[in-house]
Amino acid sequence: MAARYAAQNPNVSVAVISKLYPTRSHTGAAQGGVGAALGNVSEDHASWHAFDTIKGGDYLADQDVAEMFAVEVIEAVYELEHMGLPFSRTPDGKIAQRKFGGHTRDFGKSAVERACYAADRTGHMILQTLYQQSIKDDVAFFNEFYVLDMIMEGGACVGVVAYDLATGELHTFHAKATVIATGGNGRIFRVTSNAHALTGDLMSIAYRRGIPIEDPEFYQFHPTGLYKLGVLLTEGARGEGAILRNADGERFMERYAPTIKDLAPRDMISRAMYLEIREGRGAGPDKDYIYLDLTHIDAHIIEERLPDITEFSRIYLGVDPVKEMVPIQPTAHYAMGGIPTTIDTNVISDGRNTIVPGLYAAGEVACASLHGANRLGTNSLGDLIVFGRKAGVAAAAYAAGSDFGPLPTDNQDVAREMLASIRSGPRTERVAHLRRELQDSMQDNASVFRTRELLEKQVGVLADIKSRLPHIGCEDPGEQYNTELMEAVELGFLYDNAEQLVFAALNRTESRGAHSREDYRERDDDEWLKHSLVYKDGDGVRIDYKPVTLGYYEPKPRTY
Ligand SMILES: Cc1cc2nc3c(=O)[nH]c(=O)nc-3n(C[C@H](O)[C@H](O)[C@H](O)COP(=O)(O)OP(=O)(O)OC[C@H]3O[C@@H](n4cnc5c(N)ncnc54)[C@H](O)[C@@H]3O)c2cc1C
Repeated sequence: MAARYAAQNPNVSVAVISKLYPTRSHTGAAQGGVGAALGNVSEDHASWHAFDTIKGGDYLADQDVAEMFAVEVIEAVYELEHMGLPFSRTPDGKIAQRKFGGHTRDFGKSAVERACYAADRTGHMILQTLYQQSIKDDVAFFNEFYVLDMIMEGGACVGVVAYDLATGELHTFHAKATVIATGGNGRIFRVTSNAHALTGDLMSIAYRRGIPIEDPEFYQFHPTGLYKLGVLLTEGARGEGAILRNADGERFMERYAPTIKDLAPRDMISRAMYLEIREGRGAGPDKDYIYLDLTHIDAHIIEERLPDITEFSRIYLGVDPVKEMVPIQPTAHYAMGGIPTTIDTNVISDGRNTIVPGLYAAGEVACASLHGANRLGTNSLGDLIVFGRKAGVAAAAYAAGSDFGPLPTDNQDVAREMLASIRSGPRTERVAHLRRELQDSMQDNASVFRTRELLEKQVGVLADIKSRLPHIGCEDPGEQYNTELMEAVELGFLYDNAEQLVFAALNRTESRGAHSREDYRERDDDEWLKHSLVYKDGDGVRIDYKPVTLGYYEPKPRTY
């Protein structure tokens, strides 16, 4: 989206650098929909959407951002339609919409149809549409190029250094403006919906370059991952009427969220599922999963509106959702935090909104903060198209009006040294083993429920992993397609992401949104209605804060 909009400016040339072939980006896996108050199925308003986003985010969202977003996402969805995106349709030909968690009519009265969808392949359609449009607009693509460093000069970003997987060469991209849109970091956990490539690379590179990470402690677990695998079953299933049941067949969400039940926000449902399991009402021989029940829904609706997830369930678990209940468990899904930006996508370096010249961020890697402490389903795809467009327009305008910043002659040194030290490592530790230890321990100590004890334990685990990182290495000496080398690099990035999350989670002594501390069960607005900013500080971590932009909606207890 950023590339496409930047390319509309005749005074700039635009390149996309992607470590994957672009259409393999995780956005292509997004299923359920993109939320916008079009009102095609029932009455809806941008103000209702803004309110739901702020309340869903447990009042940590910046309210100016949420209000702007709810208005602009409507236009952005129509733009996608005009670019040719094949949305599912209502009988009278409008963009079809369905219910999704936390999206309500009239400030919380009942669930509303707000998610615009293309069956359960919405992200796939968005990605394909935007890729085609960018090709049409002559955007240059550098595919399978791994960005390993940002080039900072005099406090400004003047480009990036990237590794070409096909040749093993380093390339310097000297740029007037750079947009970071590198997605999430779900691979820090064992059970995740996120693709293998989601290793938080730029959240780590920015952090190493002195830029703080905002609110990394807020990490969302999606309630409906396939049991043990974490493969996602979209919330759109519950939007179409699916129900969560415990081992007794009880619709337990009636007890936790009496008004909107199975369509409560994800943080609440994931916690409710864990509590059911903890109290012995989990299903299966180990009593450790919950059921998603679609059996009462018409088979043709399931096949037509949820074809992919039906297939996933049949293939991966051998369970046919039309006839049987599907075993599910919460799965690590979405980083609410990220590289801090202004409402206009400029990256900032502190709590006083000091702008880093030439640097923009959008999408899951960024934190504006639209999602606060918990993102509502369908608000990420909306985030991509609203903030992607803003970043593209702003970066192009900045580039058109400025000269190239001076390029340091040693700009490749950091990247080159990083690769050389991995290549010459002793190989007494294996990348896959360390990664698994990191993921297992993060899952056990820093996921849905947290305590000081668990988090301090995880600080110890991280220190141990950090001390062993220099002992990895790379067996493959080759230059071409050395994916082993890149996995070692990504492990270092993952480590930084885990460190940011754990220290911020230990520091925040309250429960808010997706951050649930069993030793501090209440939300504490007096002390903690503020964003965390986590800086790398020598070998350690420093935490600072940024005020939340409040507005019309006063923080209230969250009930649904
Ligand atoms: C299974 C699943 C289903 C989802 N369903 C929905 C949904 O229905 N609705 C919704 O709103 N949200 C949904 N989400 C969330 C949403 O899809 C993501 O948050 C969003 O797509 C992220 O988009 P992005 O553009 O920020 O990053 P991505 O789409 O992940 O793209 C990141 C890009 O950055 C590149 N990159 C990363 N690191 C580097 C590097 N070091 N060098 C070069 N390139 C790099 C990658 O190659 C890739 O091209 C879902 C997420 C998942 C995992």
